[in-house]
Amino acid sequence: MSNESVKNFPSIETPGYVGFANLPNQVHRKSVKKGFEFTLMVVGESGLGKSTLVNALFLTDLYPERVVPDAIEKSKQTVKLEPSTVEIEERGVKLRLTVVDTPGFGDAIDNTDSFTEIIRYIDEQFERFLRDESGLNRKNIMDNRIHCCFYFISPFGHGLKPLDIEFMKQLHNKVNIVPVIAKADVLTRKEMQKLKKTILDEISANGIRIYSLPECDSDEDEEYKEQVKQLKQAVPFAVCGANTLMEVRGRKVRGRLYPWGVVEVENPEHCDFIKLRTMLITHMQDLQEITQQVHYENYRSERLAKGVPAPKRNTLIEEKASGAINDKDRILLEKEAELKRMQEMLAAMQAKMQQQQ
Ligand code: GDP
Repeated sequence: MSNESVKNFPSIETPGYVGFANLPNQVHRKSVKKGFEFTLMVVGESGLGKSTLVNALFLTDLYPERVVPDAIEKSKQTVKLEPSTVEIEERGVKLRLTVVDTPGFGDAIDNTDSFTEIIRYIDEQFERFLRDESGLNRKNIMDNRIHCCFYFISPFGHGLKPLDIEFMKQLHNKVNIVPVIAKADVLTRKEMQKLKKTILDEISANGIRIYSLPECDSDEDEEYKEQVKQLKQAVPFAVCGANTLMEVRGRKVRGRLYPWGVVEVENPEHCDFIKLRTMLITHMQDLQEITQQVHYENYRSERLAKGVPAPKRNTLIEEKASGAINDKDRILLEKEAELKRMQEMLAAMQAKMQQQQ
């Protein structure tokens, strides 16, 4: 990859920063009020590096008391869904991140139960949201719906396994699936390209719908368009994880030390870690919107089709019309509009400065 492409991920590359301080730019009422809420699910066979990657992505230890079971225990246990929540604050912006791990996935001889548990969990979150949405306290709903699912694919196979195909087919109508190739450091560049192509071909041949990044508006700036293009080209993201900091040519890097050298997790020449993080951070709002508008609506309509009446929901507009918005909300809405105006001004000034340069 050229230096030019590396330039397209500047904010995320700042050491020690995840980069979500930019989230309020994706104007969001809640992000200003009580922080940004996001739930990520990680699925894949044990040992593929899920926990290592998640800790590295968010520069935190999400699993301080983790115990890895042995093979006998694993063969007996079914999939357990374990949500861990952390609140991360960066430059005054709060992110309430919940990561739902799925230990035990793919470990059993018959993995039918793996899907059942995961589907049940996702549906439960939809159901809870549906109930809360129609309840009295709907302004303080905690959104625990799964906004994104990283599906880990083994780098050691020749493509997708039947389990991978089955999982994605069963879940693609319920959650935004982002496929990732684990432990990218075990493959050469050529092998990686081949594996990526095989996986994409298999995804398409099986009619699997994975999360696709939104098309850019024509008035979007060129740098952003280029970034989205590169992110799209990188799917399925090939990632490495590590939580050890080491020094390489005078720089502190997160990496894996091998007898022949260091794999730098945050080096775009070595793997797609930064791209995966950029994708997640810059498209958090889109992932949430698709969860709301597509997956949650699917759930609601299926529930209606089954004859169970869904509780009546009040939208913000309806609340506004009925005068249910209180002073605090009004101030917030005004602040939001002001923020938007300021962002537009800033964008216009930046464009002008670029022209002058
Ligand atoms: P999980 O069971 O999927 O959560 O996997 P873990 O994060 O516990 O990692 C399992 C093992 O793989 C550990 O020994 C890690 O050090 C190692 N590991 C994690 N990420 C990588 C990676 O990107 N490359 C390689 N080669 N090993 C990794």
